[in-house]
Amino acid sequence: MEKIKRNVLLNPGPATTTDTVKYAQVVPDICPREKEFAGLMKGLRSDLLKVVHAPEDEYTAVLFCGSGTINIDICINSLVPEGKKILVVNNGAYNSRAVEVCQMYHIPHIDLKSSVFEQPNLVDVERTLQENPDVAVVYCCHHETGTGVLNPIREIGALAHQYGAIFISDTTSTLGMIPLDVVKDNVDFCMASAQKGLMAMSGLSFIIGRKSIVEASKNYPTRSYYCNLYLQYEYFEKTGEMHFTPPVQTIYATIQALKEYFSEGEEAKFARHHAVYKAIRKGVADLGLQTVIDPKIESGLVVSVLYPEDPNWDFEKVHDYCYERGFTIYPGKISTTNTFRLCALGAITPKDIEDFFVVLKKALEKYGIKVKK
Ligand SMILES: *Cc1c(COP(=O)(O)O)cnc(C)c1O
Repeated sequence: MEKIKRNVLLNPGPATTTDTVKYAQVVPDICPREKEFAGLMKGLRSDLLKVVHAPEDEYTAVLFCGSGTINIDICINSLVPEGKKILVVNNGAYNSRAVEVCQMYHIPHIDLKSSVFEQPNLVDVERTLQENPDVAVVYCCHHETGTGVLNPIREIGALAHQYGAIFISDTTSTLGMIPLDVVKDNVDFCMASAQKGLMAMSGLSFIIGRKSIVEASKNYPTRSYYCNLYLQYEYFEKTGEMHFTPPVQTIYATIQALKEYFSEGEEAKFARHHAVYKAIRKGVADLGLQTVIDPKIESGLVVSVLYPEDPNWDFEKVHDYCYERGFTIYPGKISTTNTFRLCALGAITPKDIEDFFVVLKKALEKYGIKVKK
């Protein structure tokens, strides 16, 4: 197996992958309607349940071809019953994306907006639920990837259940990295994409959720043809296949990535990502760069760094300098503050981060950018 040039991706996904995952895509051509391929997807679906400790008899994993946003679209358009509302607990760009999906489908919703620099306030969530008995679905992103804020989903899920609603969490940027137990964490539906925490390729997304609710959603308003949760679930149950063409090669890569996930182990992988995060925090502090989120509420997967105040600062130039040397940095997603992000996803180690900071320091020197200490 020839080594493939390794890039250290510090963007929030797609993540750096292993060569074994890359090569897993090189397989004989196969029609995905073959029994052999359906068998692969069956194993994949049950492994995905294991990643989030979902009991097989209560939860199902439904696969879709698309990037992670397809899951947000599908969950929202498929799981709000007639005459009911969805409450979006919104403290950032990814929760705002969910609000936009509600708007596009004209789904009655409450946008409970709060500061992007803080976790949502549980008292406000509870008050909103008390005042709106027609809320059937509560939605909150686990980790606002745009800032790095980790949200208290277990508590939000408990409130949802206390008021008779189901709880959907966008776990795209935590699943496979921060241990998640859907039952203990009060999550009825979660979601992710193969290219993030699982360190596979883009093109495959999946929703893990309670079978009984998916089955009940058969009678909910249908708002999309291609993106309907029940239709895809039913097709899988009947045939073992995806309704339409699956991302064949990405599925092979994801199966290999899951093997590597289980062999690294949930806790060890979590510890590795955390060590990478610590190395990022150390590198940022050593250079004197400022960050915007209190580490106490950070996921430990994304660090939002303020642009240095020096007029010589030019994100593009610094990005290009690092990129040419195998390191990718990424712009921030906070509309009011100029930030860039350094992320701890992927098959990378603290050593990669040390190497990155050597390069970043050289870039700052080359362009005469001073960072105030
Ligand atoms: C990456 C991400 C998504 C999906 O984004 P795509 O560009 O569609 O893959 C959704 N939610 C969160 C929290 C994410 O980090």
